[in-house]
Amino acid sequence: MAIAAGVMLAGPPVAGFNLWLNDLVERQAQAELEHSARRSMTLAEGRIARTIATLDALAGRGIDTCRAQNIDALRQATFATTPVKEMSIISADGRSLCSDVGVGATEPRKVISSERVAADSEVLLEVVRMGERPELWVRLRRPGTGAANGLAAMIPSELFIARVSSRGGPLTTHTRMTTRGGALIGEAGTPPAAAEADGHMAGTRESGKYGLNVSISLPRESVVLSQGDLRALGTVASGLLAILILALSLLMPKRARDNPVAELERALKAGEFIPYYQPIVDIRSGRLRGAEVLIRWKKADGTIVPPASFIPLAESSGLILDMTRELMLRVCQEAGPQIGRRPHFKIAFNLTARHFGNEDIVEDVRRIFNKSQIRLSQVVLEVTERQPLENLTETRRVVAALQGLGVRVAIDDVGTGHSGLSYMLKLGVDIIKIDKMFIDALGTDRNSNTIIETLIDLAQNMRMEIIAEGVESFEQVIHLRELGVRAAQGYVFAPPLPGAAFLQLVEATDPLRAAGESVPEGAAETASPASVNAA
Ligand code: C2E
Ligand code: CA
Ligand code: CA
Repeated sequence: MAIAAGVMLAGPPVAGFNLWLNDLVERQAQAELEHSARRSMTLAEGRIARTIATLDALAGRGIDTCRAQNIDALRQATFATTPVKEMSIISADGRSLCSDVGVGATEPRKVISSERVAADSEVLLEVVRMGERPELWVRLRRPGTGAANGLAAMIPSELFIARVSSRGGPLTTHTRMTTRGGALIGEAGTPPAAAEADGHMAGTRESGKYGLNVSISLPRESVVLSQGDLRALGTVASGLLAILILALSLLMPKRARDNPVAELERALKAGEFIPYYQPIVDIRSGRLRGAEVLIRWKKADGTIVPPASFIPLAESSGLILDMTRELMLRVCQEAGPQIGRRPHFKIAFNLTARHFGNEDIVEDVRRIFNKSQIRLSQVVLEVTERQPLENLTETRRVVAALQGLGVRVAIDDVGTGHSGLSYMLKLGVDIIKIDKMFIDALGTDRNSNTIIETLIDLAQNMRMEIIAEGVESFEQVIHLRELGVRAAQGYVFAPPLPGAAFLQLVEATDPLRAAGESVPEGAAETASPASVNAA
């Protein structure tokens, strides 16, 4: 869930970042294309202009024949004009008559294309091959007036295209230059293979002056980001990191739920632990004589979690102390008036071994019930025999202190623990609760019968009260009655009930007189709470 949420939170910024990065690369690539196109164009135009100027100057000097003096002038002009490799006198029909090298020394020229360098100029821009060689040359030809000879200058076409990248390294672009009419002047760099052509970006530029056309293509991955872009990239990356950290910190409270103790603490603060009440019935009169409080965790979505799922953790983490206090307060608040007006009614709470480690519980109980309508004499505290008590002497002292408040103490789950009968004998408790295990075996198992009879004898001799737990059938009720047990709880009477249902049951089975006094014992023999299955 957290990962999914994280991806969803971080998704839009990351997608945005990708768009931005793509756009950045795109803009950078366009700038680079623009830049290299301009470089080649500037180079070509400069060379053409300089050569035309030289041709004009030579024509101005009347150089149009193959005289030795003229050939000398051609040689000097070739030397002085950087890109030009050869100057020649050319006939009106385009034949080379002589060059700066000498008379008749020119190889045959194959003219591939010939067009005016500009609309307002006589000069022709020609793409030429010399003999059978593959290189292309640009020949700028300035015709003479009328039938007079003209002048021509040969420039290797490769000098028209920039050969190094703008950063000085080898070319990553592919450049192709053509004339206005579309004839190829030259190419540089490796052309993109058709298959990877879509990974390339392309741009073209046209020269207004001589109609040259430069088209450039550039593989995407060769785009190099500028320092400014890299700085922006750093800023965006740290922004993204900040968003990610923010998203994580927003998810942190959710993560805290993975920590079960933290989750218990949260639930406790949120008041999600609530009391359920299981009636305890006098099986001779059928009257309600009290209830045991059993904790439930009511989650925000309404699900009810039984105590077995969280009590062990509450005990091991120590949260059980706060939890018990809260539960007692809640019972006082919720059922205080009804219980307080029925002094014979007992309300029992479950304690754990931890509660008997020191006398804090004594102070807690005194404080809580002194402020409540529930009297201390109505309170029963159960300590289970299932878990061993750490310090029997200290426990004995705490039990005595509680009894000093007027509270009664019960041993729960008698017969199931490791203590044998020692807790029952040593702690000086007031009540024993016989575990369901023995009740289930009643009437069927001779040993169980004997154990219960012995327990009952022992309890009566020690002036302890007996409560039978987990009574599920009327046969068991009858059997217990015959054995002399007076109190019982179990599904046969009622399951643990939520507060409202329990209080309804109390009002219905134990009505108060107009004066607000509880009906005395025996006056309500006919009222029986049997088989209330409200839950
Ligand atoms: P317990 O104190 O022995 O509580 C009796 C348990 O038996 C309750 O289970 C009750 O619902 C169940 N029960 C009652 N009548 C019958 C019956 O006729 N048949 C059957 N099969 N079961 C019956 P619950 O409420 O799930 O509580 C389980 C245990 O959780 C309790 O055993 C007690 O040890 C502990 N517990 C419950 N509330 C608290 C609490 O507030 N504090 C502490 N420390 N422990 C608690
Ligand atoms: Ca109990
Ligand atoms: Ca029990």
